[in-house]
Amino acid sequence: MSIQVLPPEVVDQIAAGEVVERPAHLVKELVENSIDAGATRVHVEFFDGGRIVKVIDNGKGMAPEDLPKALERFATSKISKTDDLWKLRTFGFRGEALASIAAVSKLTLTSRREGDEQAHQLISEYGRKKDLDKVGGSQGTTILIENLFDNTPARLKFLKSDAAENTAIKTTLKAMALSHYNVEFRIQENGKLASFWPACKNRKDRVEQILEIKPLFVGEATRENVRAYAVFADPHNVAKTAKNIWLFAQNRWIQDRSLQAAVNEAYRSLLMHGEYPIAVVWVEVDPDCVDVNIHPTKSQVKFQEPSLAFRAVAGALRGTLEQAPWLAEGQRPRPPQPLADVSAADYSSTQGLPNFATTPMPKENLAFQDSSLSVTQFQKKEFSFPTSTVNEPKIDYQTLAQAAASREELATTPSSAPPEPEAPRGYWSSLEVLGQANLTYIVTQARDKIVFVDQHAAHERVVFEKLMNAWKGGKVDVQDFLFPLAIDMSPEKVEALLGIGKDVERLGVHIESLGPGTIGVKAAPLMIKESILSSVLDKMANEIVDQGGSYSLERVVGDICATMACHSVVRAGQALGMDQMKSLLRDMDMFPLSSFCPHGRPVSVEYPFYKLEKDFGRIV
Ligand code: ADP
Ligand code: MG
Repeated sequence: MSIQVLPPEVVDQIAAGEVVERPAHLVKELVENSIDAGATRVHVEFFDGGRIVKVIDNGKGMAPEDLPKALERFATSKISKTDDLWKLRTFGFRGEALASIAAVSKLTLTSRREGDEQAHQLISEYGRKKDLDKVGGSQGTTILIENLFDNTPARLKFLKSDAAENTAIKTTLKAMALSHYNVEFRIQENGKLASFWPACKNRKDRVEQILEIKPLFVGEATRENVRAYAVFADPHNVAKTAKNIWLFAQNRWIQDRSLQAAVNEAYRSLLMHGEYPIAVVWVEVDPDCVDVNIHPTKSQVKFQEPSLAFRAVAGALRGTLEQAPWLAEGQRPRPPQPLADVSAADYSSTQGLPNFATTPMPKENLAFQDSSLSVTQFQKKEFSFPTSTVNEPKIDYQTLAQAAASREELATTPSSAPPEPEAPRGYWSSLEVLGQANLTYIVTQARDKIVFVDQHAAHERVVFEKLMNAWKGGKVDVQDFLFPLAIDMSPEKVEALLGIGKDVERLGVHIESLGPGTIGVKAAPLMIKESILSSVLDKMANEIVDQGGSYSLERVVGDICATMACHSVVRAGQALGMDQMKSLLRDMDMFPLSSFCPHGRPVSVEYPFYKLEKDFGRIV
């Protein structure tokens, strides 16, 4: 066959395959055009799974002579030279959406500008334009698409059920509405009103309106030139899939695994397995630091510095999550404060405290203290959060030393109590300990309620945070084994672990190969009991194998710390003395987010006095 130029209709259909694979894509293109035209009201009607779509807007409209041009390929009013691609202020820029849609449907375009006497209408059937007509109509543009894909049976076959296509359209419209809180949307499905979203005052109101969730919280963070703004639900309000994580870059709805991971990271240790956050996140960078032209449906973007975007997003959520604004006032963790500028030398001079320089202390405490001094080091790591010292857990050396002292006591001599420390400092230590119930719960009271604290969950949280801090500070005390500890596992897992040997080493675990099915541990952190080493390594190997070689160090570390914490803390069923209970509560105050254990279970349960009084029939 000789080489020939394809007829234009064919070219248009090829392009159509890119932009309008599904009715939802078409709806997105049409609504974006309306918004680009400055519309404040957009009405969308669709029938038959989107094979008929009508979009009506009150935007600026088009000149009659522009109507045929709008249907030409690469005809756009939005850019004129390549350079403009880097300073886009509009959604459209390729000038091919309408041409692509026109090529696979019957399209009726009606438009009237402000000041025009009449509207003009252009009908096109599968790319063949008819004559321009004068018609009645108000200001704005109406586009009706019918017979979608009737001339491309192959594409028709790829459509899913009407219900599935309708859902995709509605999801797209939600995204469009989320990104334009000041535009009114009216949506009709098969002739019935499906949604009516009047314009809102701000993004948070819009999220509440669209996702129908309350209460919502807001967070912001900036990392260099990347800004992130997030509206999200508290960790009690969760979803079963990741579908309720909505991401926008330059106000464009995008799919981005890295930013989705950033959202998950921010909620890490607050959610149970299988729970997903509900969050809407907007990322903004200078237009020349992001490429929005990398994907046919413009649903992906490329950041010049993806790690900054990741950190901004995680930071925006984490900053607020750590303050636990969903809790009652007195119950929140103390507001984080910038770290005091304390050098290690100050420890030994602190009056009335054990001399850290000479007194042997439990290793985990030492590690923790050191880590608090190396926050800057932590900031440089890509995956880290929080990245600003403002969000770091407040480290109070006084409390720390007390906690250290009492921890030592917790571990060794429950009976010889040190002098009771002065006034309580945070929510947890302000609770008055009444006793222990069922060898499992610390029973305490506050002014207006009884609070039961799960001793295992609470201690687990404390140890978890200490381990995480120790790791972040790169301060893990390591014990060398005289003979490497041999652990058997599948060759595949051995490979996987050896492949990330360097990272594992940063956790204080030094490994080597002892043959295809055996891994040797030359050294391990003092705080990991030998007995759990093999299960920790096994878990880690599993993760890497499951993820097909890739893995998130932060997550692995989080999991390991959670496992380690879980294995090394007080269990349910263990008797605790008053002082041990008090010291545990004091420790809880050292960390933000102490109201959940690392596995996402609540640490405490409350019983308000008014409920007690109601139960006793004192009040009705
Ligand atoms: P793009 O949006 O990339 O410019 P389109 O094919 O989507 O390309 O649209 C082509 C042109 O038609 C736009 O540049 C714009 O000038 C005009 N247009 C499309 N839809 C509308 C609308 N709803 N209101 C006003 N003008 C529109
Ligand atoms: Mg467009």
